[in-house]
Amino acid sequence: MSRNAPALPAAAAAPPCAAHKFGGSSLADASCFRRVAAILATQADPRQLVVVSAMRGTTDALIALADAAVRGDDGWKGAHAALRERHLATTLDLLGADAGATLAWLEHGFAELANLLAALAVLGTPSREAAEAIQGLGEVWSARMLADLLAHDGRACACLDARDVLVVGHGELGAIVDWEASGARYADWRTRHPQPWLVVTGFVARTREGRATVLGRNGSDYSAAIFAALAGASELTLWGDTDGVLSADPRLVPDAIPLAALSYDEACELAYFGAKVIHPQTLTPAIARGLPVRIRNTFRPDHAGTSIGTEPAGDAAQPPVKGLSAVRDLAVLTLEGAGMIGVPGTAERAFGALHAASVSVVMISQGSSEHSICCVVREADAARAEAALRRAFVAELARGEIASVGVAAGISVLAAVGDGMAGQPGVAARLFGALARCGINIRAIAQGASERNISVAVDAADTARALRAAHAAFWLSPQTVSIGVVGPGKVGAALLAQLDAARARLLREHQLDLRVRAVATRALQWLGEAEGAAAWKDSASDGGDLDAFTRHVQAEHLPHALIVDCSASDAVAARYPAWLGAGIHVVTPNKHAGAGPRERWQAIRTASARGARFRYEATVGAGLPVISTLRDLLDTGDELLAAEGIFSGTLAWLFNRYDGSVAFSALVHEAHALGYTEPDPRDDLSGTDVARKLVILAREAGVGIDLADVAVESLVPESLRAASVEEFMHRLSEFDAAIAARHARARDAGRVLRYVARLDRDGRASVGLAELAADHAFAHLRLTDNIVQFTTRRYRDNPLVVQGPGAGPEVTAAGVFADVLRVAATLGARL
Ligand code: ADP
Ligand code: ASP
Ligand code: MG
Repeated sequence: MSRNAPALPAAAAAPPCAAHKFGGSSLADASCFRRVAAILATQADPRQLVVVSAMRGTTDALIALADAAVRGDDGWKGAHAALRERHLATTLDLLGADAGATLAWLEHGFAELANLLAALAVLGTPSREAAEAIQGLGEVWSARMLADLLAHDGRACACLDARDVLVVGHGELGAIVDWEASGARYADWRTRHPQPWLVVTGFVARTREGRATVLGRNGSDYSAAIFAALAGASELTLWGDTDGVLSADPRLVPDAIPLAALSYDEACELAYFGAKVIHPQTLTPAIARGLPVRIRNTFRPDHAGTSIGTEPAGDAAQPPVKGLSAVRDLAVLTLEGAGMIGVPGTAERAFGALHAASVSVVMISQGSSEHSICCVVREADAARAEAALRRAFVAELARGEIASVGVAAGISVLAAVGDGMAGQPGVAARLFGALARCGINIRAIAQGASERNISVAVDAADTARALRAAHAAFWLSPQTVSIGVVGPGKVGAALLAQLDAARARLLREHQLDLRVRAVATRALQWLGEAEGAAAWKDSASDGGDLDAFTRHVQAEHLPHALIVDCSASDAVAARYPAWLGAGIHVVTPNKHAGAGPRERWQAIRTASARGARFRYEATVGAGLPVISTLRDLLDTGDELLAAEGIFSGTLAWLFNRYDGSVAFSALVHEAHALGYTEPDPRDDLSGTDVARKLVILAREAGVGIDLADVAVESLVPESLRAASVEEFMHRLSEFDAAIAARHARARDAGRVLRYVARLDRDGRASVGLAELAADHAFAHLRLTDNIVQFTTRRYRDNPLVVQGPGAGPEVTAAGVFADVLRVAATLGARL
């Protein structure tokens, strides 16, 4: 970057003043102009220099007008009238009865513009001169309007058309100021217009040949820095519509935070890499003379904004990365071939060829093997760049020394910027890790020796997600997870309530933002934003479409997606491999995946090994830490010898209560009424649910069994298996005698009846009624408690026991929630 110190002639000796620039967003309408006047009125400095952009949208409108005229599209006339009307109406609003002179001046300007456009329409050929003259008119008008308003308010205020003073040439990096000519003209102009307040048109200038030109889109920032230098200003404030420079583009990262201070270097890196908040050339004149620059919000003038200056802005408490920016519409160019290895000068020739073709290179990366050189250029230059390389290496390509010249379009470069990155290990790892965790492929990497900027090229479609993931990874914003909940019955509803209740606290204390954005039942579907989740039913639509649900949950702009399946549906479980394969994390209390077909289970494990997490703690023992306990044992090298337990809260309750005094069927009726059973109590009594849990535990321990391998003793009499629920409940008493007899036999032997699941070290699995000694650990459970006993090599004589309430929506939902938090922790949330 060139930092030529402007040679400042006479003007530098002028009395100091404060310089400001108001962007288009600060000059959108009459009330904006008044706001600007009010801000200026509060400034302490008696001398004010005010550079302005065009009214918001005017430059775009002028460019479109010129394009339409050249195309012969008569539509320019209507657009011209609208633009004229907007300027006249704003002026009238501002100046009222005193508007006459300004209105006449504007009318004249718009008439000239109409003549120019009509001429363009006749010529039909685009002309750079005309285009540039037209583009800059918005600033000419807005400057005069503001100056007249300030004069109307009683200020001694002059208005400078920068085309009368600022002389520039055009170089590869944009406009180059002729400081000597501009300084002399400014000093001369100022002697003729000595008013303490001065409004200057931004964006516009004149070439040495005397032609009107512009400083490039967003160029008013640069104008402001130039005029601040010419006027010898003591500081420069760029007024916009954000609370300063934010940690990322707020349109892509809504959580972006204002940065209190930046060094010049940091600000330059951010500006070069696409942070639209400052024009990249702006800082050059400021740096050359140590001019402090502030970025502030016109709409919140009490906010301090961002100070940019010479002081190194980093301190130990600050994250190493201050901000992130992204440049879109780029392409990766790759030159590849074994013939390049060890051949000096290849890079020089490649970049020389690009230079000769006027292609600017955004980023360069060469592997140390020298087998390939890769660089990033603007997409619009890609074809020209490719042709230039092919020409330059035509001989090597013919001889096969260079195998290919490739172009991949649709690329964005994301840059992480901060002085604090220098000498800090792990910054790149954190960036790459964050991108990897949300499944974003990095196409090329570059880090400058200054270590102030790490840049990565990614697919354009990943831009927003990559920015957000990196932003969260550097603690600049919370870790955000987009969550969808399928099948909210009792457990799902409890989970939604728990998530809602915990959301603000997780955000505050752990910088974790869990956003429930979709809910689907078989009959209803809601797709929205987290704020609407609590009342999702009010705006749900009919019919579930899990494809649309999935697309909504995996929103492009959110880094992480997670689906919680609270259904008991096999069809939903069948989607897990695809979800996990697409990078969506899955958390579930649904037993169908863990106990379903083994190929599907395997597909789920394989998909989850590739990145997305699959957690299912609540499938066994609800909120009790059963699976994680077993995992910890196995992961630390222990060996499971046997697992036994009572896995059904319903069956636990029935046999804890059953002492022969009340008929078993009466207890089933009572449990049903208390909500301890499934709607159809046979789902509990059949033992299938318990068998499923045993299969899940067995598979966790590496025992590859299926449901069919479990010997299941069903408590549902054969003759009632096909009956309706009502008939079953009604006729269950017919079988009381049989169970009473089993109970009596056990009692006479000093034992108790319990419904037990067992897995032995040979992988034999069974569930059914067992007679246990009266002092057995399973004999003294309370209510619906579950118990699991792991006998392992380490816990051989005295097994490890997990026990506690093992059913109920609240505890099950808490188990699911804990899994969600575990997934979030693996994504980088600080829990
Ligand atoms: P103005 O008209 O005031 O010059 P611009 O539209 O040129 O404003 O640029 C300001 C806009 O740049 C902001 O409104 C914001 O949307 C966008 N922007 C992009 N990156 C950043 C960033 N890092 N900090 C602040 N704003 C940014
Ligand atoms: N009005 C010009 C643009 O829109 C310059 C500026 O606003 O800085 O690019
Ligand atoms: Mg701007």
